Amino acid sequence: MNTLYRQLPSIDKILNSAQGELLTARFGRSAVVNQLRSLLQLARRQIAQQQQLPRYFSDFSILYKKLAHDLQQQRQVAIKKVHNLTGTVLHTNLGRALWGQAAQQAALVAMQENVALEFDLSQSKRSHRDQYISELLAPLCGAEAVCIVNNNAAAVLLLLATFAAGKEVIISRGELIEIGGAFRIPDIMQQAGCKLVEVGTTNRTRLTDYADNITENTALLMKVHSSNYQICGFTESVGEADLAQLARQHHLPLISDLGSGALIDLSAYGLPTEPTPQKMLADGVDLVSFSGDKLLGGPQAGIIVGKKEYIERLQQHPLKRALRCDKVILAGLEATLRDYLFSEKLTDSNPTLRLLTQDPEHLQTLAEPLLRKLQEKLGADYALRIETSSAQIGSGSQPMYRIPSLAVTLQPHSAKNADLMQLIRSLKQLSQPIIGRIEQQKLWLDLRSVANPQQLLTTLDEL
Ligand SMILES: *Cc1c(COP(=O)(O)O)cnc(C)c1O
Repeated sequence: MNTLYRQLPSIDKILNSAQGELLTARFGRSAVVNQLRSLLQLARRQIAQQQQLPRYFSDFSILYKKLAHDLQQQRQVAIKKVHNLTGTVLHTNLGRALWGQAAQQAALVAMQENVALEFDLSQSKRSHRDQYISELLAPLCGAEAVCIVNNNAAAVLLLLATFAAGKEVIISRGELIEIGGAFRIPDIMQQAGCKLVEVGTTNRTRLTDYADNITENTALLMKVHSSNYQICGFTESVGEADLAQLARQHHLPLISDLGSGALIDLSAYGLPTEPTPQKMLADGVDLVSFSGDKLLGGPQAGIIVGKKEYIERLQQHPLKRALRCDKVILAGLEATLRDYLFSEKLTDSNPTLRLLTQDPEHLQTLAEPLLRKLQEKLGADYALRIETSSAQIGSGSQPMYRIPSLAVTLQPHSAKNADLMQLIRSLKQLSQPIIGRIEQQKLWLDLRSVANPQQLLTTLDEL
C-alpha cells in the first residue's frame, strides 16, 4: 500500500511541469491547487479502501486532461437553459416569462455601462429610480404614480407594512390564498405586523360582511385576486366598485393584490379575460399590485400602481429600500413596458404573448419536424404521435382555462413505466435538457411553450 501512496505526485511537481504551467496560466494557481488537492484526497481514500491507484495518477497525461475538464466544468453555470415543453407557458420552476428583445438589450446596457438610474439628465440633478417607469406606466394603466419592488410578494408586504402595521386589515375568507412557494396571505399579514380580520365565508362574502367589521382599528380593506383556484357553484363576492364606495365612506384605502395583472385585454386574442389594473383603478381601488414576470411578460418585479399620496408613503417606508429593484431589472421592465406603446406589435415583441397567441396551424408546423426527428432517433422503441393537447398560462393565471395546443407524444412499445422514466432521464441529460409532462403513461412534448423550436431540433441531434 505504501508504494501506492508514494506514487502520488506532490502538488509542486504537477504545478511546475510544462502541462501544469499551462493549466495555471489558464485557470490561475489557486483553482488548480484546490482541484489537485481534492483529487489527491480522493486517491488516498481509494488506496485505503481498494488498495488501488486511480487511473489519472498512474498516467499523468490523463491527470492533466481531467484537471482541465474539471476546472472548465466549474465555469459552467448550474442554472442551465432548458427547453420548456411542459405546455405551461409561465412555468415558475422554469423561470416564468422570457424577456423580449428590447428588454434584453436594455438590461445588457445597464450591466455594461453606467446608466442614469437615479439621475435626471434634463436638470442635472438626482431623481428617483422608479421615475422613468412611473412616467411610462402611469398613463398606460390610468394611475397617478407607481412603485416598483422585487416581486409581487414584496409589494403586498410593503403595502401592508406601510398602511396597516399594528392595525386591522379586512379581507374575505374566500381570498385567503396560498400562491405556492409558501406565499400565504395570512403569513404576509403577520410579517407586516397587521391583524387579519376574515369576513364572510369561503364561498360567499357580502358588502355588509365588510361594513359590519370596520372599527376604529381598521387600516384598510383588501381584495386578493383568487388567481390559482376558482370557487364555483353557490358563490358571491363583492366587486371592487362597491367595496371602493364603502372604503371611501370610512376614509380607508382599498388595495388589491391582482397577481397576474395583464395590461391588455386578453380576450382580444381569444384568451380569457384577466382583470386589468386599469379596470381596478377605474373602479376606485386606491392601490393595485401585480407581478412583472407573469402575464405582463417582463422581469421579476412587483408593480404597485395607484394614488400619488399613497405611493409617496410607500416610497418613504424603510422597507422600500430593502425591496427595491436593481438597474438591470428596471431597465428590462422599462423596455418591456415600452413595447406596450405599440400594441399591435405586442404578439411579436413580447415572448409570453407570442407563445400564448400562436395559432394551431403554426403549432402544426413545429410539431411535424419534431415528430420526424424523434421518429428517426427513438422510433424503434416508442410509438410517436402528434396529438391535440391542453396547454395553460401558468403562474396561477386562469387555472381552469386550457389553451388548445399540439404535442408530440411518446409511448414505450413495451408499456413499461421504467422505459418512460429512462426516456425522461435521457432527455434531461442533453446539453439543453428537454422538460415535458407525463399523462396517460405517455410523455407529452407540448409545442405551445417552446421558446426556440429550431434549437430544440439541434439539441435532439445529440440523442
Ligand atoms: C403570483 C401571485 C403573488 C406572488 O407574486 P410574485 O411576483 O411571484 O411574488 C401574489 N398574489 C397573487 C394573487 C399572485 O397570483
